[in-house]
Amino acid sequence: MVREKGHSFNLTQRPSSSSSKAPSFSLSPSVSTPPSPSIKETNETFGMSLRLRNRISSRLPSISQLFSKQLSVNSAMSTELEGSSSQFDFEEKEELYYSDEIASTSTTKMDDAQRKLEKSRRLGLEFEGQLKNLTHLLRVITEELPSYLKTQGGKLAKILVPHKQGDHILLQIVNKMKMIKGFHTAFTDGFDVVDFSSIQEDPQLATVIIENADVLKSFIPFLKEKRELVEEVKLSRANDKELDLALKKFEEKHFKRGGHLNLQNQLDRIHQTIMRYGFLMEEFGKCFSDGSEMKKKAEEAVKKLKDVITIVEAEMATATENETRKVHERLQGRFDTFKKARKLLLQERVWSDNGMRLQERYLILFTDCMLVCRLTNSKDPGCTFEKDFYEFDLNTIEIEIDQYQEYEKVLKVSTTQRGFFFLFENGKLKTDWIKAILDSQEKMKNRIGYDKKIVEAKKKFLKPVWVLESGECLMEQCSDKFKSPEERNYCRRCGLSICPLCTGFAPVSQYQFEKQIVCPDCFEEILDDYVTGTLFPEELKLSRKGKLYVKTGKTEEVKAAEKLFKEPKKRDLKKFDLEERKKETKAFGFVYLRSGAMETEAYAWLKNDNRLVFVKQKLDFKPIFERNIGSHNVQRSKEKDGFVFAFSKKGRTTDDFTFRVKEPNSIKKWNTVLADHFTDSK
Ligand SMILES: [Zn+2]
Ligand SMILES: [Zn+2]
Repeated sequence: MVREKGHSFNLTQRPSSSSSKAPSFSLSPSVSTPPSPSIKETNETFGMSLRLRNRISSRLPSISQLFSKQLSVNSAMSTELEGSSSQFDFEEKEELYYSDEIASTSTTKMDDAQRKLEKSRRLGLEFEGQLKNLTHLLRVITEELPSYLKTQGGKLAKILVPHKQGDHILLQIVNKMKMIKGFHTAFTDGFDVVDFSSIQEDPQLATVIIENADVLKSFIPFLKEKRELVEEVKLSRANDKELDLALKKFEEKHFKRGGHLNLQNQLDRIHQTIMRYGFLMEEFGKCFSDGSEMKKKAEEAVKKLKDVITIVEAEMATATENETRKVHERLQGRFDTFKKARKLLLQERVWSDNGMRLQERYLILFTDCMLVCRLTNSKDPGCTFEKDFYEFDLNTIEIEIDQYQEYEKVLKVSTTQRGFFFLFENGKLKTDWIKAILDSQEKMKNRIGYDKKIVEAKKKFLKPVWVLESGECLMEQCSDKFKSPEERNYCRRCGLSICPLCTGFAPVSQYQFEKQIVCPDCFEEILDDYVTGTLFPEELKLSRKGKLYVKTGKTEEVKAAEKLFKEPKKRDLKKFDLEERKKETKAFGFVYLRSGAMETEAYAWLKNDNRLVFVKQKLDFKPIFERNIGSHNVQRSKEKDGFVFAFSKKGRTTDDFTFRVKEPNSIKKWNTVLADHFTDSK
């Protein structure tokens, strides 16, 4: 194949039946056509057989569709890959998805060999399913999307018109997908001879893979630029509301399964599918006995696929390096992103709630630390970060895992600087973060230089996360409602929200014994320690004229010990025990409480003793009202927007109270815990 630097090439297509020994793509220098890197790349043959190349050439789109400008987007890389990869798994589960569980439960009577055959059959079916799914996806993007845009007319239809200054990003994607579709069709065509219903009897599947796997290498140029394409789509959607809205409608219709993935996520599926082909074939090979023809062929096929996957994975690794470099730039070189054994794991834009307002923040997770950054320009997704960012050693942070489904977007992080209340865009992202943080913390414990004692010593300074989800003072005998945000204080020792009358001051150990706001309960505990002489470490104590002085804060400012206390107006109050609350809860969740035609947002809290308590805010204790539902009947009815649960006292026909639940998880939960009360037979 002729390739010269500095020339641009013209691609001519040969008929697929060509038996010529010449390469199936012939390249000739051309002056009139602009250089197009994507074409040069897709012309790489990666050592494909001639037969294969011929088949591919017959599947490629016509030349006019192939020109597109190369992308150079310097915007921020997001966690698209990490974020969407497991969403994709989720989607797969709804389709043909191999599962050991199914295999073992449904085939308990079979012997081992039979079970393996059955497993191989299922794997074959999933392989076929994967082929079909990707074919379908590519068809949707290359055919449905353009015709949809055309019917929208106006500006949206113009997207499809090639442009001198470079095509619209969607047109670029459609064209690239046409290319991929050509290759993939060439790949799937090979499977025409495979009988997927008797896959376990004949090594045809493996043979076809061996012959065709090289085609998949043609996906690599696309995979290389996938992230940039995704970023550009995001950017153009953010800047063009009309387009975004139109795409959302399209996505709702065509990408329904697996939680409405967007177009950007769908681009990841191509990468995922190739990985999955490899996995399935590997599992397939395990189903056959050593030395058998089936096994031999399967292993050969796995090797072929691995060749492709290795290249794909290498490209993905490079993408991570690029991301790390970008993070380094955005931090303006103030943080060593390339430190040995430090790897970038996740980054995400979140909201931080400080009890007064939400602020935009950018979280970056490395294998050994987490950064909390502020953006210099919230309009620019790739902007630099403010120079004063938080950096936390992963060893010395603690995350709180919220038990309530409804709050799955919240991540609470306790650090030595302060507690954080982060809001993620969705629950899936938040779950990914929790998993990544816990995993990394576990791995760090095995690192050389990890010293448990030092870590424990640092953890003494962990600040509590403020309890923002309560509208009342959390002292048990107080429960005063907050009438304004100014009335609301937070105990610096335990984080509970307290009213002005319950607010006291005391030297708090997490703050190096600075005088800080405390609740009445914490006040008593600190005072007790003070009286018994165990509060301050010896090295911080000074004695002057018979009076006790203490070095406080980071600057070790010397203060009279007694001056560090100011008692709250209300003394001897106990705080509500949030841990105990979890233990005595049978079910908890957000509901719409009904009264006539009116609905009020509330939280329903069913306790173990059958008391059903309704509170205004999530962690309130004072009920709006409560009932013991031990002898209530519950009638369920489905509505357009959720499920309605109507409670009536046994023997009476009129409803006592009614609430509606919207979220599927929540509906499931109430259906379970109220099962004994249902009068219907559903
Ligand atoms: Zn407290
Ligand atoms: Zn109070």
